[in-house]
Amino acid sequence: MVSTIRDLVEIESPSDNKAAVDGLAEAVAQKFSELGGKIEVRVHPARDFGNHLEVRLPGKAAAKPVLLLGHHDTVYPLGTLATMPCRVVDGKLTGPGVLDMKSGIALMLHALAALQQWHGGLPRPVTVLLVSDEEVGSDSSRAITESLAKQAAAVLVLEPSYGPQGAVKTARKGVGDYTVKVTGKAAHAGLDFQKGVNAILELARQIERISGFTDLKKGLTVNVGIVSGGSRTNVVPAEASAQVDVRIARMKDAAGIEKKMRSLRAFNRRCKIEVTGGINRPPMERTPGVAALYAQAVAIARELGWKLGEAAVGGGSDGNFTAGLGIPTLDGLGGVGDGAHAPHEHILISELARRAALIAGLIETV
Ligand SMILES: [Zn+2]
Repeated sequence: MVSTIRDLVEIESPSDNKAAVDGLAEAVAQKFSELGGKIEVRVHPARDFGNHLEVRLPGKAAAKPVLLLGHHDTVYPLGTLATMPCRVVDGKLTGPGVLDMKSGIALMLHALAALQQWHGGLPRPVTVLLVSDEEVGSDSSRAITESLAKQAAAVLVLEPSYGPQGAVKTARKGVGDYTVKVTGKAAHAGLDFQKGVNAILELARQIERISGFTDLKKGLTVNVGIVSGGSRTNVVPAEASAQVDVRIARMKDAAGIEKKMRSLRAFNRRCKIEVTGGINRPPMERTPGVAALYAQAVAIARELGWKLGEAAVGGGSDGNFTAGLGIPTLDGLGGVGDGAHAPHEHILISELARRAALIAGLIETV
């Protein structure tokens, strides 16, 4: 497994470099083809992003397929390997994307190979979908993810697990992005001060209001993360804007925050406010279907001699889309480690084998 992961990590695949991401998709397609049997590999071309990869594997029993979901893009620019090489150090494997989520792709390959060997073929059909744009919002892959999820009995997401014990993720917050743009009126700060309308001042007041929408008890947070505005100190600024990240734990809170953001009114009526954006990933809620899938995973892990925990996290994944459709989804089944998107990203090698066994067990039983 370590050598499979190393092969994948050493082909860098930043979301914004189509050629690089396509190159990795080809290498991954080759590895799936090597599983043998009547495998169908389908490349979904994407114009502005890397191609998405779908693999269909037949099963011995006629059953709905399990969808193994993940992504092959990373957040790291080309050349990161020079400063963050793929190495084994103290039982850890390091490198860009090793946790998020190239080890997840390797786990899929090895779990499927083991099932084929054990049963003389897969016990039930499996569909694999690896998308190329998860780290940048999944705009070009969402429709494919949703259509494959609708055909599946369950969705297993091989994103990184949570914490040093490798808990799976049974709830994820939904995510929204908004831009609030204020237009005022420019004027010379010395000669014509009163003719100007200060867009930055208006935005500052709006930021206080927007930040007040946070409701921690509901798991609803609003973060103004980027602000910009103005041109020179001696000019009353005509423009200012803020980019806002919104997280919701429950779908029923989406409409309320959407309405609040949309109905922002200027404190200074000489300013104009424009709000764009919206909620783009629904929350993954711990529905009865999700809880049942988690209970199955716990039972399999117990047979393997360990106690599998669960976690609710603030970050979104493509599992949010599939859970949002009501398809039982279990996320965080991938590698165990730390430092996703950070220079110390790594996985624990000792966790790989039982992780693969858990995934194989879930494919057999769900
Ligand atoms: Zn990821």
